[in-house]
Amino acid sequence: MFKFLSSEPLHDPVQDTKLATEIKTTTCYMCACRCGIRAHLRDGELVYIDGNPNHPLNQGVICAKGASGIMKQKSPARITKPLLRKPGSERGQSEFEEISWDQAFSILENRLRGIRETDPKKFALFTGRDQMQALTGLFARQFGTPNYAAHGGFCSVNMAAGMIYTIGGSFWEFGGPDLEQAKLFVMIGTAEDHHSNPMKIALSKFKRNGGRFISINPVRTGYSAIADEWIPIKPGTDGALFMALMHELIMANQVDHPFLKRYTNSSQLVCLDPGPEEGLFLFDPESDPINADIPHNKYIWDTKSNTAKACFANDVDPALSGEYVMGPGPHQGKRVAPAFELLRRQVKSCTPEWAQKITSIPAARIRLLAKEMAHTAFKQSFELPIAWTDSFGQQHTSVTGRPVAFHAMRGLSAHSNGFQTTRALAVLMTLLGTIDRPGGFRHKAPYPRQIPPNIKPPSSENDIQVNTPLAKAPLGWPTRPEDLALDRDGKPLRIDKAYTWEHPLAAHGLMHNVITNAVKGDPYSIDTLMIFMANMSWNSTMNTMEVRQHLNAKDENGQFKIPFLVICDAFQSEMVAFADLVLPDTTYLERHDAMSMLDRPISEFDGPCDSVRIPVLPPTGQCKPFQDVLIELASRLKFPAFTTADGQRKFKDYPDFITNFQTAPDSGIGFLMGWRGKDGEKSIRGEPNPDQWERYQENNCVFHYSMPPEHQYMRNWNQGYLDFAKANALRQKNDPIILAVYSDIVQQFRLAAKGQRPGRVPPEHLKERIIEFFDPLPFWYPPLEDAVTNLDEFSINAITQRPMAMYHSWDSQNAWLRQIHSHNYLFINAATAIDHGIEDGAWIWVESQWGKVRCMARHTQAVELGTVWTWNAIGKAESAWHLDPNADESKKGFLLNHLITEELPIKTMNGTFRVSNSDPITGQAGWYDVRVKLSPAGLSEDMDTWPTAQAKEVPGMLFSSSYVNKSSNE
Ligand code: SF4
Repeated sequence: MFKFLSSEPLHDPVQDTKLATEIKTTTCYMCACRCGIRAHLRDGELVYIDGNPNHPLNQGVICAKGASGIMKQKSPARITKPLLRKPGSERGQSEFEEISWDQAFSILENRLRGIRETDPKKFALFTGRDQMQALTGLFARQFGTPNYAAHGGFCSVNMAAGMIYTIGGSFWEFGGPDLEQAKLFVMIGTAEDHHSNPMKIALSKFKRNGGRFISINPVRTGYSAIADEWIPIKPGTDGALFMALMHELIMANQVDHPFLKRYTNSSQLVCLDPGPEEGLFLFDPESDPINADIPHNKYIWDTKSNTAKACFANDVDPALSGEYVMGPGPHQGKRVAPAFELLRRQVKSCTPEWAQKITSIPAARIRLLAKEMAHTAFKQSFELPIAWTDSFGQQHTSVTGRPVAFHAMRGLSAHSNGFQTTRALAVLMTLLGTIDRPGGFRHKAPYPRQIPPNIKPPSSENDIQVNTPLAKAPLGWPTRPEDLALDRDGKPLRIDKAYTWEHPLAAHGLMHNVITNAVKGDPYSIDTLMIFMANMSWNSTMNTMEVRQHLNAKDENGQFKIPFLVICDAFQSEMVAFADLVLPDTTYLERHDAMSMLDRPISEFDGPCDSVRIPVLPPTGQCKPFQDVLIELASRLKFPAFTTADGQRKFKDYPDFITNFQTAPDSGIGFLMGWRGKDGEKSIRGEPNPDQWERYQENNCVFHYSMPPEHQYMRNWNQGYLDFAKANALRQKNDPIILAVYSDIVQQFRLAAKGQRPGRVPPEHLKERIIEFFDPLPFWYPPLEDAVTNLDEFSINAITQRPMAMYHSWDSQNAWLRQIHSHNYLFINAATAIDHGIEDGAWIWVESQWGKVRCMARHTQAVELGTVWTWNAIGKAESAWHLDPNADESKKGFLLNHLITEELPIKTMNGTFRVSNSDPITGQAGWYDVRVKLSPAGLSEDMDTWPTAQAKEVPGMLFSSSYVNKSSNE
């Protein structure tokens, strides 16, 4: 019976003869969680994968996806050869000829060199859910193009930006709930197994320890199904709930006053007088700003002396309420109020009754929830006997626990009101004092960082020069309109219009608009679009069928509007068919990878942690890791960071790059922080170590630096930690990171729209929009799509989430995981379905104002009454992913993407304009804003999904006849 608990294989999927002869450790990539795994090999063949018990993240736990990695490796959908589209063939037809890597590199080198010599922004590099953005970002920057981003703009940039602009950190990789010490856990808008194994492990311990778990979500599956209480909520209304919770806490005076006064900008004085300072903090020109980028020389109102004092002064009692007039000095006579007073006014009308009408959560439940949160935070608080010193020189003998923890993700984020909703959550957590405290939200290195990090995007055409690296990072964190990526005429510098007045704080770019913009030539046309592991002609795009047409669109001369399309993928995704050049990637089991501190590491609460992948198998066919492709191209194109002073290439390949690259000459900071120094004796910072990969291999592919307890909490203001962070380049400075309950950064953009500040101003048609949405305090507004939708006709919210057994589109070619999901249903509350005359299992039409889909319905009680939902990315184009033409995935599976538009019309006094269907602040794709109506399909209709698309096998696929024949001839 104990065999179930053993790591020995229970059965052997290949043959039942002898056990594995070798076990190698690496890191899973069947989803983005990066669990440690062990690959069991028999005579060099992979026969079994299990969790690595010695890995800190998953401690031996493995999920269905992770264990099924073997079938990804053996997938017949693998592409194994570089391919070039046959001359004269159409995109989408999969008419390719096999070419060599030499030919592929030569094509790319010549093309990219020409672009770099003439107009670098004509090259665009966009990537999907990869884990190497530090390298892809470096490549784009060294190339000199601003046109780079990963998937964040269509995933969860609202979560990242909303949190980072407020508390200097974010959920998931950069922070999370401290469930070891929490007593109440509130999860909101989280997919059914987001942050999969680590969250499951933490939740099981939390529940065993008697913790109370509340899930707020329109859908009750996954985590919500094991919650002590499920609170159904209408999609896109979480912000209203948070505003009402803040209303309750503030009106009942149940907030952490000392925390707000010392560690947040709640007590700092905001100017109330009209003019260029309206809504901004006042600054004392006589005091030291400490940090020129985010100056600290602001004021508070000291209730002891009844005067304005420097905000970091000791022996003061800052006011959190009231309105004051500045006394003698540079601001004499100006009316001011503490930021918290303005928050109090903001939430005043946000009563539970107001929120009930929006969220569908009863007002009484909202009141009780606020009480429960306050009770847990303040009545169940505790002290840990850990001495620490804050940034203001005060020594503390203990750290206070506030054991109410939150976790939220894409359900908040993927709405056009997601930035302000996330800000509202971050401020709610701040009121309860749960930031980086035991039992609350805790940061993970390299966070917390400055609010926001001091990295700026290109802000002028001068930042983009031929044959020269970009002057700034392609992606950054604007703090004022002058940071926007605009040329001297106010035109966008980026193809996706990130960092323009349409989406000023677009910290992750807008990948979902690249193809549409490039084809329209708006703001300009490009030459080469390189896409890495993103299925932009299918499930990773809005308005799928039209985008597929865009990819084939030609100008009046018969030339493709996007002249050259390079796709790097390991599998025959729908996107591959549209490529001009296909680069076959390896699987995660065949390559080196670094989950780097420069990117998204696997840090723990107690300290920085990074990890690697080390190949357990050789590459299949001619597959080549995309990392090696980039190193090769960067070397051929002689990018400065990849070339020695005498013009030679610096790095042999990707592993060599990871070992020897440093962020600046002799900085001692590289992609990996473990076993640095010549003999591996240094951590985090040190000279390159030629044996670094070996050390990772010997240590379960992971390096974990555990900080002393006195550095593990209150890190925004913990001087010991801040000094450590600066010394090790986790931060540029060691000043305190004051939480932004009130965002004067956001206010800068509103002032520009009002014409109240000198400098850049938005175009006329966007002014109203900026004034409305750039509120320096969080607020709730309906998703933008509501304003252009007939809500009487399209009354139902439609949303998606990924299933537990598949990571987005990655797994429909996986023979084991297909047995769990081969098609999807639209889940409808049974009462709603009956109202619409829809039977369980019936074929139905789902229609939005943008498109319609035929699919199968499934009755359920586990969804909010006015919401329907499905799993994303299970529907596939016919014959894509090497599936049989009659496979369930293309006959019964469907995409909701067909119902979602990538652009929305906005009506202004100056006419109607089309803008991205995204958050007006960050550009986050509004996936979950769509409204639909439902009707039964006619009895005479076909019983299969609509719309559909066709794909074809490409040459050289694994197990295809061409692969076997060619391989045996070699
Ligand atoms: S949770 Fe993700 S990373 Fe972990 S084993 Fe499962 S698929 Fe792999």
